[in-house]
Amino acid sequence: MILGRMRGAGIARAVMQGPRPVVLSGPSGAGKSTLLKKLLKDYENIFGFSVSHTTRQPRPGEVNGKDYHFVTREEMQKEIDAGEFIEHAEFSGNMYGTSKGAVQAVQAQNQICVLDIDIQGVKNIKKTELNPIYISVQPPSIEILEKRLRDRKTETEESLQKRLTAARVDLELSKEPGLFDLVIINDDLEKAYSELKEVLLEEIKKTEESRKS
Ligand code: ADP
Ligand code: 5GP
Repeated sequence: MILGRMRGAGIARAVMQGPRPVVLSGPSGAGKSTLLKKLLKDYENIFGFSVSHTTRQPRPGEVNGKDYHFVTREEMQKEIDAGEFIEHAEFSGNMYGTSKGAVQAVQAQNQICVLDIDIQGVKNIKKTELNPIYISVQPPSIEILEKRLRDRKTETEESLQKRLTAARVDLELSKEPGLFDLVIINDDLEKAYSELKEVLLEEIKKTEESRKS
């Protein structure tokens, strides 16, 4: 376990030499992927997505290796046991995790690494030396979250209920002072996106400058 953590810290140290990573967290359905896709499209060369592993089934349109590495529980456990993950967690009946390779792939491009992880992931990343900017994206209310999740049409009734339960826990735990550098309430998408860009402006500028030199 200690070895695992040291390995995690090793990669984190390596990442610190590049631009500061960004963690986007918050309840499922809050709008993380929507905001991230906009950011990655507008700043194609500046940000790079840390492609997580998951044991959940792909949704229509999701691409293996781009949205996630879709794997079996056995495959993922084997890689975790081999010390290949920085963090991993069980969420809504499936395993999710960030491999060292996922962060290294972004780092190799000298891009700002963006991680989309749940609150357990946030707590585990805090134990490493990754030193990212922590942002929580939250819905205006649980009712609106439920409507967005239903309208997204990606969940069964069972997984929707699990996600809503996890969302309530997430919103409670997110109140911990200092856990996040910024909480964005995603009511109006454009407003939420502006707030996200504003907090990242300094890192964006630094990365753009480093490209010029
Ligand atoms: P997450 O990645 O956090 O699970 P998504 O980005 O998939 O959430 O967003 C959940 C759903 O809500 C999607 O169908 C998305 O189009 C929609 N959505 C996101 N932001 C807003 C917003 N500000 N207003 C209305 N709908 C939104
Ligand atoms: P989804 O199934 O909707 O893509 O993701 C469900 C939840 O898993 C989201 O809260 C998302 O942030 C989280 N998640 C995705 N990848 C990872 C990961 O690598 N680690 C952790 N801890 N959570 C993740």
